[in-house]
Amino acid sequence: MTAKYDKKELVKKAKGMHDILPREYWVRERLIEKAKTIASFYGFKPIQTPHLEKIELFTSAVGENTDLVEKEMYNLKTKGGDKLVLRPEGTAPIMRAYIEQGMQVKPQPVLLYYYGSFFRHDRPQKGRRREFQQFGIEAIGEANSIADAVVIKVLWAVLEEAAGLKPISLHLNSVGCKECRKIYQKEMTAYYRKRARSLCKDCLRRLKINPLRLLDCKEEKCGELKKEAPQIINYLCEGCTNHFKNLLEILEASGIQYNLDNYLIRGLDYYSRTAFEFFLEGEPLALGGGGRYDGLSAILSGKEIPGVGGALGIDRILAMMPEKQKQSPKKKEAKIFFMQLGTEAKNKSLAVLELLRKAKIPTKHSLSKDSIKSQLKIAAKANAPYALIFGQKEALENIIIVRNTETASQEAVPLEKLADYLKKKL
Ligand code: AMP
Repeated sequence: MTAKYDKKELVKKAKGMHDILPREYWVRERLIEKAKTIASFYGFKPIQTPHLEKIELFTSAVGENTDLVEKEMYNLKTKGGDKLVLRPEGTAPIMRAYIEQGMQVKPQPVLLYYYGSFFRHDRPQKGRRREFQQFGIEAIGEANSIADAVVIKVLWAVLEEAAGLKPISLHLNSVGCKECRKIYQKEMTAYYRKRARSLCKDCLRRLKINPLRLLDCKEEKCGELKKEAPQIINYLCEGCTNHFKNLLEILEASGIQYNLDNYLIRGLDYYSRTAFEFFLEGEPLALGGGGRYDGLSAILSGKEIPGVGGALGIDRILAMMPEKQKQSPKKKEAKIFFMQLGTEAKNKSLAVLELLRKAKIPTKHSLSKDSIKSQLKIAAKANAPYALIFGQKEALENIIIVRNTETASQEAVPLEKLADYLKKKL
């Protein structure tokens, strides 16, 4: 044996990664099923894009100077020399697929939902993983505010109904379009330049590249300056103002409460107009977020196609989900317990179990046990009204003993008749 590997290290997962064990897996699956049902009601259809994409997709669409691309993206170079990345977010890949797969010719808007893993090389801490899962939706090809409202409504319903998280707080803002942002950026630059001495190192850099990103800074000093910073809402052009007003009207008419958050920017280049985030009231970490990205398609294809979408962080939702909501609905208990005795019977066990599985008869068993005593013990716990006893003799004769565990009466049944026999009994 080589001493090349430290055994303790071999069985430790990589930093920021998580195993999902059976119970949590099922809670996730049920949550996602409910989320899909809600999204499907509103006309969203499933899509799955690859985990690996070309690096340029994100450098161009999300922005070269964003934290997501600059600091958090997992880069890899293939043996063929391609530069690929593990997808850090879902919107750019879906817009790529929309264009590449010619979805422009379909009736618009194209409504899509997705679920899967995303990867960000962030500092692992509470609520932050390096591989995490998102459920997201995108409405592509619709500029009207109704699409923004539908996206918000669907994600809200997933949080409240599917995850049982209440009360949800929706933070909402408009980040304007290219035109209004130009003026706002100038104002922001002027404001922060005057206060450059109080800025952190990162913000000094952000000030040169994109002053809007200063609003995302988590440093206390920079947070103080944010309180007096210009607000984008005061610089919106007529089109953006109307779009935002219209969205607020639809939300009000739909009974969706919102908190205007004038400093909510969301740090990616492709956002325009609507930006939103969901919180569980009193919790600091966002459960999800999204926004409109009318300029994204032009970056990728030169063609203007409006779009809006959002994503929920499933890991965070699960961590905050009430225990009651995690309970599984009572499963039908298996009414049959299969026991085998002797080599001949054990060898043929799988054939018998397959026969029952194909007949859709739920059956418990303990194939790894040999002695009748230990199998009886497990059978007693399973509380099944029927036990199937398959011994050496039965295996040779292709029969099986069906025993009523309550009355202790039993009958030998040919294997080929077993499924029908049990169906009548159950
Ligand atoms: P974002 O579009 O980056 O705001 O992500 C949407 C949601 O995904 C967030 O509100 C979080 O709930 C979740 N999320 C984002 N990054 C992580 C991460 N590193 N670990 C766990 N969840 C995350």
